[in-house]
Amino acid sequence: MSHQWLYPIFRVDGYRPTKFQTDEQCLRLHLEPQPHKVCCPQCGSRDVIRRGEQVRVLRNLPVGGIVSLLLVKIPRAECRVCGVVEIGKQNGPTWGE
Ligand SMILES: [Zn+2]
Repeated sequence: MSHQWLYPIFRVDGYRPTKFQTDEQCLRLHLEPQPHKVCCPQCGSRDVIRRGEQVRVLRNLPVGGIVSLLLVKIPRAECRVCGVVEIGKQNGPTWGE
């Protein structure tokens, strides 16, 4: 069964859903960054080289009384402009309006 209808509900700017899991107690949505949205956490440049990622678990609002979690791959990037290599706070998800 497709869960694509759920994705607009969890609209997260710069990220796309890759997997949806649910059971009686928890709903999990896996997100990964859209490649063209990855940028340097220091200077904001999009001229970066991806150097891995880290998965963060974010607790979201409950859906129908069930806990919902976002499992987000936060990219680690090396900036070609300023040379910074890190997992950036700015590379984390932001929620759309
Ligand atoms: Zn930079």
